[in-house]
Amino acid sequence: MELTIGHLYPDLLNLYGDRGNIQCLRKRLAWRGIEARLIEVHAGESIDFSKLDLVLLGGGSDREQELACQYLKRERKGLCAYVEGGGVLLAICGGYQLLGNYYKTNRIAIEGLGILDIHTEWKPKRLTGDIVVKSRLFHSPVVGFENHSGRTYIGNYPSLGKVASGYGNTGRSGKEGIVYKNLIGTYLHGPLLPKNPEVCDYLLKRALQHKYQKRITLGTLCDGLERQANRYIAERAV
Ligand code: GLN
Repeated sequence: MELTIGHLYPDLLNLYGDRGNIQCLRKRLAWRGIEARLIEVHAGESIDFSKLDLVLLGGGSDREQELACQYLKRERKGLCAYVEGGGVLLAICGGYQLLGNYYKTNRIAIEGLGILDIHTEWKPKRLTGDIVVKSRLFHSPVVGFENHSGRTYIGNYPSLGKVASGYGNTGRSGKEGIVYKNLIGTYLHGPLLPKNPEVCDYLLKRALQHKYQKRITLGTLCDGLERQANRYIAERAV
């Protein structure tokens, strides 16, 4: 078995080590003897989504996000078909925001890709700090770091989970992130996946099942240290 991972705009969207998510995905595949190919897509390059099994869209400051959004708009059709067809996508913070209809900043309104019927609005108080989320998808709490001025309103979509400590989508709704088909959008940096191996394996399993169209059971890894680190952050924050 093998997976092809697409990293979109690593030069523009790589806040707080979002690139570490790629290393984590590759390493956990390698440990299981599953081959991983990486395709880095740089600004201005066209994307053949039919070649990708798992896509990462990281976070960025408003400026980088605006640029990435311009490039990604040219690829909108392909990305939309990829998501609707069950392709696995992890979108972090700025990347999560630009999947929506718009992000209204203090200066301008950035028109988003409209792949999700959600929107984001800038507020002067930045929502910053460690965050702990309880998700129905995972046994362990999902932990990370958030730093965003945008508040994301997700309507009736299911969230990734409930905020146990921190701010999440709006700082008020008690919800963090979004889940739609095989897409996860979240504000969690840190990077997310090394801190939350369960989330990493969830994405890998989904991607393999979608590619090979059969039930996949991933071999267990020795995650003692990872779990200890996750527990430490969760207990410290709550
Ligand atoms: N520019 C966005 C905001 O401040 C996203 C920042 C980020 O990716 N951390 O809301």
